Amino acid sequence: LLATHNNGKIEELCKLFEKFSFEIKTPQDFNLQEPNETEDTFEGNAKIKAHFAAKEAGLPALADDSGIEVESLNGAPGVHTADWAETKNGRDFGYAMQRLWSEIQKTNFKKPYRARFCCTLVLAWPDGHSEVFKGIIKGHLIWPLKGTNGHGFDPMFQPIGYKETFGEMNRWDKNTISHRGLAFTNLIKNCFTKET
Ligand code: IMP
Repeated sequence: LLATHNNGKIEELCKLFEKFSFEIKTPQDFNLQEPNETEDTFEGNAKIKAHFAAKEAGLPALADDSGIEVESLNGAPGVHTADWAETKNGRDFGYAMQRLWSEIQKTNFKKPYRARFCCTLVLAWPDGHSEVFKGIIKGHLIWPLKGTNGHGFDPMFQPIGYKETFGEMNRWDKNTISHRGLAFTNLIKNCFTKET
């Protein structure tokens, strides 16, 4: 069970699981609500989501908590990344990216504006135990936005060593280098090792 209501994350995780023969479920299949994310770390919030879904559905549940940390903003928005997109009409990431860029312009920092995407994956079982896996990718924030692929802040994030933003990459290329892809590789290495 993918314990997330974020369609962008669901699509990326489904793509990553493509070569495994699991039947993937989502919270919609069980009419699950989104629990409140009350912790101040990615790991804490991923644990809330994974344990809640595993217990409610009686299935192993994988939750992702992720966000972007910007050097010139002392690591903000961090665990509050999704909140920066809130408007009275729902989440709007065009608005969130503009807001992030204008907050950076108020600082004394000069280009390149360093940032990193962080992802923590928590795999929880209905018996209450869990495993934690992390991934980080460093890059720069750019303006104007480039690309329309992906989700969230992808069009303003250019990973170090690449000329394209996440918003210009196809999803498969992004998954091979992204914070989520790296955390996923750790999960596979640790939980899906073939017995010899
Ligand atoms: P969460 O659902 O509380 O973990 O919110 C994380 C937020 O971070 C998402 O809503 C996105 O805005 C942002 N985010 C996380 N991963 C990515 C990514 O791969 N690309 C773009 N934005 C991301």
